[in-house]
Amino acid sequence: AAASADLLEVDGVVKQFGGLVAVDGVSFGVEEASITGLIGPNGAGKSTLFNCITGVYDVDGGAVRLDGEEIQGLSPTKVARRGVGRTFQTPKTFRGMTVRENMAFAARHQTGERALGALLRPGTIREEEADVQARVDDTLEFLELDHLADDYASGLSGGQRKLLELGRVLMLDPEIIMLDEPVAGVNPSLTDDLLARLRELNDRGRTILFIEHDMDVVMENCDRVVVMHNGQTLASGPPDIVQDDERVVEAYLGG
Ligand code: ADP
Ligand code: MG
Repeated sequence: AAASADLLEVDGVVKQFGGLVAVDGVSFGVEEASITGLIGPNGAGKSTLFNCITGVYDVDGGAVRLDGEEIQGLSPTKVARRGVGRTFQTPKTFRGMTVRENMAFAARHQTGERALGALLRPGTIREEEADVQARVDDTLEFLELDHLADDYASGLSGGQRKLLELGRVLMLDPEIIMLDEPVAGVNPSLTDDLLARLRELNDRGRTILFIEHDMDVVMENCDRVVVMHNGQTLASGPPDIVQDDERVVEAYLGG
């Protein structure tokens, strides 16, 4: 479901680690209400770029714009509050909390400032808490995790934990959802479930940017594809065109 304007603009972003240029002047746009796939071989710089977009790293050059406003240099919390939700390649769920607690924690963490203000307005906290619990229930149902709501996260399979990660991000009601290899290591049936949920979120107007290793998954699920290689943008555009790009074929086949 492609639209017109770019919600997110990555403009010449550079990130170095000592002498290694992990991200070397990457530029591309993510159209509002699109599903955009970011692919590239291991070490291409995809996760580093995600960290540059979400404020985990300061960039060494270039700009990141959300809705036309520069967000590079903001803290991860501030970037999240602007409406950028993300998951990590290694899930950050709390293993010692139940699925429901993990979800509620994400929501409370996000509304921390508002909750403090609510202390001055008696009654509001209870209302907000009821609202959080209702949204937790809705989201768990949407992700078909409701039967696991009271299980500890430590007991979940890798795939279920990735669904929970998505759930935690959804509790922040983000404008754009960024996922770092959401289906890597996930069994085929749960992979299909997760991709179906992403398409459904996109049908409801959410913008999605996800890193994926598997070319077929990207080609089947994305409106736009960005290919990174050695820290640079190798190609970008609609999947059918990118798929046939000579440079992409070479990078993938190592030819
Ligand atoms: P991808 O996600 O595409 O597999 P990464 O962004 O993880 O690639 O890594 C890109 C390059 O940057 C790799 O060479 C990796 O070793 C290096 N790198 C990533 N993170 C760091 C770090 N924190 N310190 C030093 N080098 C890093
Ligand atoms: Mg990575």
